[in-house]
Amino acid sequence: MYIVQIASECAPVIKAGGLGDVVYGLSRELENRGHTVELILPKYDCMRYDHIWGLHDAYKDLFVPWYGGAVHCSVYCGWVHGRVCFFIEPHCEDNFFNRGCYYGCSDDNMRFAFFSKAALEFLLRSNKRPDIIHCHDWQTGLVPVLLYEIYKYNGMWNQRVCYTIHNFKHQGMAGSEVLRATGLNQDAYYFQYDRLRDNFNPFAINLMKGGIVYSNAVTTVSPHHAWEAHYTEVGSGLGHTLHLHQDKFTGVLNGIDYDFWNPEIDRYIPCHYSIDDFEGKQQAKKALRSHLLLQDEDKPIVAYIGRLDQQKGVHLVHHAMYYALSKGAQFVLLGSATEPAINDHFWHEKQFLNDNPDCHLELGFNEELSHLIYAGSDMILVPSNYEPCGLTQMIGLKYGTVPIVRGVGGLVNTVFDRDYDQNKPPAKRNGYVFYETDNDAVESALGRAIDLWYEFPKEFQQLAIQGMEYDYSWNYPGKNYVEIYESIRHT
Ligand code: ADP
Repeated sequence: MYIVQIASECAPVIKAGGLGDVVYGLSRELENRGHTVELILPKYDCMRYDHIWGLHDAYKDLFVPWYGGAVHCSVYCGWVHGRVCFFIEPHCEDNFFNRGCYYGCSDDNMRFAFFSKAALEFLLRSNKRPDIIHCHDWQTGLVPVLLYEIYKYNGMWNQRVCYTIHNFKHQGMAGSEVLRATGLNQDAYYFQYDRLRDNFNPFAINLMKGGIVYSNAVTTVSPHHAWEAHYTEVGSGLGHTLHLHQDKFTGVLNGIDYDFWNPEIDRYIPCHYSIDDFEGKQQAKKALRSHLLLQDEDKPIVAYIGRLDQQKGVHLVHHAMYYALSKGAQFVLLGSATEPAINDHFWHEKQFLNDNPDCHLELGFNEELSHLIYAGSDMILVPSNYEPCGLTQMIGLKYGTVPIVRGVGGLVNTVFDRDYDQNKPPAKRNGYVFYETDNDAVESALGRAIDLWYEFPKEFQQLAIQGMEYDYSWNYPGKNYVEIYESIRHT
């Protein structure tokens, strides 16, 4: 099949979180399976140009209809670690993608509505007719809407859309100006509840809802999260819409790219290791301590890697840090916050703990350091309030770093409690799970992990190795997506 991915991120060139990893990893897997894959991305000023090879003009004068006129764009093409990527650069006063950031602007819905329109216009004008267009999250929710309402009539009648929701929290609420800008000209038609009108705010259209309504297949990133989104408040108001479209909605667990996240070949760690040769993990631990100036004592290292925001359970991260220190463990945190209050809070903590030889807080985004932390730590904490899939626990498992997670979303599908999981035999369990969102809950799981590390080190290592035995690569999810594509291709 010929598949085009339209997304706002692709790791490592554009990565704010798991979306970037997924877009890259899935594309690579699909190519390995013999399909042709191309990606369409915004050309942000702040992306990692050092990860693009051979960037060149691919389509000089693309005129994207916008309001009554058109925006002149250039489209560049380059290879991101082997993947063919097209980057769209608009030339207009709005400067949509030259903002020094990927997200967080007050006109984000306009920026990505424009991107969605431009991506389709590029496909149309360059005569690309993929079998499948796979788009992701609210930023590209308008793609299927525009395809079926406009582009279908311009020759793109044979394309089918798979839409993947990575996070229901951000849905892209917009006013009628987005409709007008993109050429969806009948407000009353689109402002119907069975089309784009938000289920709760009658004055807004909801771009993610548009993606659900108009796509041929809709997925979210784990089976358990698909259930949560359908039946609980985790769907953030879209449960009813998912219910109406349940026949085309499923959960496909994300994978991780084992060419990139693999302690046997990882280029960012000092010594490689594997299930059969676990010694190298000790070297990674030593290197991590020396890199972060932690004292070299016989203690477990607990890590947290991820965005610092409400979704991720920051209050529990904060509590776990002090609890781990009180239990004789070391704590390493790598995270960045977009909310000023949370950012200030962690900067304050960082200063407060500055002289503590057992704790290091690294505030910011640092891909290279994240590899060393995954490899050099004993445990990885994921105390999320909700977690559509979660990659950090899966990466931790691959690196023999025992996950301690809250039992929500994809964490339920990937981590099985060593002491209590009833559905897995002891030899298949791989971590610790807690359920409530209070301090006692995180203590109960983290406490059990630290106790095992101190009292039964061999059993702890066995648990880590059992985690490494799981295959959370793109192999199975890749197969699932191909099946989904096949099922919609001839509809
Ligand atoms: P989300 O997509 O909700 O942010 P995921 O667990 O799905 O969370 O994916 C997070 C990805 O981003 C992982 O690859 C993780 O290693 C990476 N990551 C998160 N925060 C940082 C950071 N501060 N520095 C480096 N990598 C990070």
